[in-house]
Amino acid sequence: MKSVYAEGKKSVKQQEQPGDWCDVCGEGILNGDDLQATEPAWLAFRGEVDREEGKAYRRRGFSRNP
Ligand SMILES: [Zn+2]
Repeated sequence: MKSVYAEGKKSVKQQEQPGDWCDVCGEGILNGDDLQATEPAWLAFRGEVDREEGKAYRRRGFSRNP
């Protein structure tokens, strides 16, 4: 699992993303199930951002865990 996040102008959505993660470079190998685990929440968050703040949604994949 790794923490990944997406941001709008004001709000940030963080999730734990399952998958195989490289300890060296932080890249992930994500299969369909891994992606499906987080995709509905990303879409919901993007919908919120669209409604409240316009089209200022950015997904930041693969950020390192603090
Ligand atoms: Zn690597």
